[in-house]
Amino acid sequence: MATEAITVRVPDIGDFRDVEVIEVLVVPGQQVEKETSLITLESDKATLDIPSPAAGAVQELLVAAGDRVSEGTPILKLAATADKTADAPAATADAKQEQEQKQGAAAQGGAASAGEGPAPAAPPGKEGPAEKRPQQGRQQGAPSSAAGRDGAELHAEVLVLGAGPGGYTAAFRAADLGKKTLLVERYPALGGVCLNVGCIPSKALLHAARVLAEVEEMAGAGIHFREREIRPGELRAWTETVVAKLTGGLKQLARQRRVEVWQGEGRFLGPHTLAVRAPDGKERLASFDHAIVAAGSRPARLPGQPADPRILDSTSALALQEVPATLLVAGGGIIGLEMATVYQALGSRVTVVEMADRLLGGCDPDIVAPLQKRIEPRYEAILLNSRIESIEAPERGPLQVRLSGARAGSETFDAVLVAAGRHPNGGQLDLERAGVRVTKDGFVPVDQQQRTNVSHIYAVGDIASQPMLAHKASHEGKVAAEVAAGLKSGFEGRVIPSIAYTDPEVAWVGLTETEARARGIEYGKGLFPWAANGRSLTLGRDEGLTKLLFERGGGGADGGGEGGGRLLGMAAVGPAAGDLIAEGALAIEMGCDARDLGLTVHPHPTLSETVAMAAEAFEGTLTDLYLPRRR
Ligand code: FAD
Repeated sequence: MATEAITVRVPDIGDFRDVEVIEVLVVPGQQVEKETSLITLESDKATLDIPSPAAGAVQELLVAAGDRVSEGTPILKLAATADKTADAPAATADAKQEQEQKQGAAAQGGAASAGEGPAPAAPPGKEGPAEKRPQQGRQQGAPSSAAGRDGAELHAEVLVLGAGPGGYTAAFRAADLGKKTLLVERYPALGGVCLNVGCIPSKALLHAARVLAEVEEMAGAGIHFREREIRPGELRAWTETVVAKLTGGLKQLARQRRVEVWQGEGRFLGPHTLAVRAPDGKERLASFDHAIVAAGSRPARLPGQPADPRILDSTSALALQEVPATLLVAGGGIIGLEMATVYQALGSRVTVVEMADRLLGGCDPDIVAPLQKRIEPRYEAILLNSRIESIEAPERGPLQVRLSGARAGSETFDAVLVAAGRHPNGGQLDLERAGVRVTKDGFVPVDQQQRTNVSHIYAVGDIASQPMLAHKASHEGKVAAEVAAGLKSGFEGRVIPSIAYTDPEVAWVGLTETEARARGIEYGKGLFPWAANGRSLTLGRDEGLTKLLFERGGGGADGGGEGGGRLLGMAAVGPAAGDLIAEGALAIEMGCDARDLGLTVHPHPTLSETVAMAAEAFEGTLTDLYLPRRR
């Protein structure tokens, strides 16, 4: 094969100059693939691997560990094999990698409504099997292909199926614990639903919605802007940039830890074997000691839902192809209301239909009320106790939707967004061939160590249980990896916080009043209205509320007597309420009581003061409001 000698140089590494080489990952004579990591740089801000711009043989090293380098510093001489990209400097290779990440994100973001994403469009995972990796450096984590069992190409001590927050966390933790780790993901971009078609793109769009709302609100303060213009294509491109930064970062983290990544659809062949079908149709086999199943969930569809691009799920809604004039959102839960917030801000006339008698079912009505009060006049309608009976999608003309309940009858909409929950993917992995039990709903039941009924196979994240939240998935991923590595670990979180990033945000953790009443749990309550919080008023908002629930048997005004019981639950509504809820979660984990919260000096003026003051309200020591003493 023809070769060409090239000098590989440090590419554009942003603002970094004079950065230390902490590791040289290749040796002269070594064959490298395109994008094999050559050296690792470390600045005070980040660690960065420099990939090879081409495949070839390393001829001569021009740097050593301890050297300091900047953009353009020669790294090594490479006898590059024919590929024309070999002429390109490493910087170009980096740009290509970034592009690939964007494509990956876009590939998922642009999914049709039928599932979570289109068939993977990008070529198979760039990282090849272990024998193609550099032979020097931090190799202990990489699976050894030589050790593949029963005809498998590769044997991993820990195999992780699915690269969402549950899966990548598990893989990284396993590698950090010295385990040879293989991560299998069907899409080219790592990060799963959360990074590609969930938490991150939705929060980017919700930020845009917030900016639009703030601009309008400032008219009342004498700040006026000319008429707004929204370019959905540019907005979409911006969210894709945010996503690509994160998914690109994950790829880098996987490389740094020597986690092998295979792109392809995984299915179990037995209790120690997984088959992986790559996007080009080729099948690869991996054997494993331990497997962590982190294959997530997919959006639920309505019964009889026609296939039509105007019927959206969260994935296609986030792809923001266009802004429909009228939008029916089916589901008044977190995802439905977040997407309603986005599309209303972008200009859609939004109707929400919800089967239950209230929005955000898991949260107390008094906390949801300020949100409902704000969105009611902004939306066309919020139809509770109502449901979609059928949708017709004629080729010409709008969608015809038959509703029952609050406004029974037939109505037309330009688009319908179905946000009616998610189904776990347990039924799609041939887990029964490994002997793993899957419920009829598709969940894979686990114990506190995240073990399934087959003790060396674990499940984490959405596929394991409710609540389907990224922070639960990542915590479970760590536990599974630690147990697989022989550590004593278990999921012991007392509470898992929930947040709706609506406007205002709604957040809750631990016990709610609704649940306490249903279970007959006695509690005391501290409330603080944000109308008395300086920071909230400077934001132009006064509708917020912070509520704390304490164990009965202590407390002041409400609990009776000095001190007070431990915090059992917290809920808050208001701008940025989601950022406050972590304090409640920590306080519950630490067994804090009202005094602990009230005596902690909170900075002023912040929204966090509402937490301390709700505790003081419970204790009867609050001075920022006048609360008449109970007789
Ligand atoms: P996933 O993130 O679903 O990852 C599973 C991965 O497995 C996917 O990448 C999938 O491609 C891969 N996979 C599946 N089957 C196979 C197979 N056979 N072979 C190979 N790979 C496979 N949660 C929050 O905590 N905060 C939020 O703000 C939030 N916002 C959300 C907004 C939206 C619109 C949506 C849809 C979800 C949101 N979530 C949020 C939920 C969150 O995204 C999930 O709880 C989280 O992603 C679950 O992580 P996971 O690792 O279990 O699975």
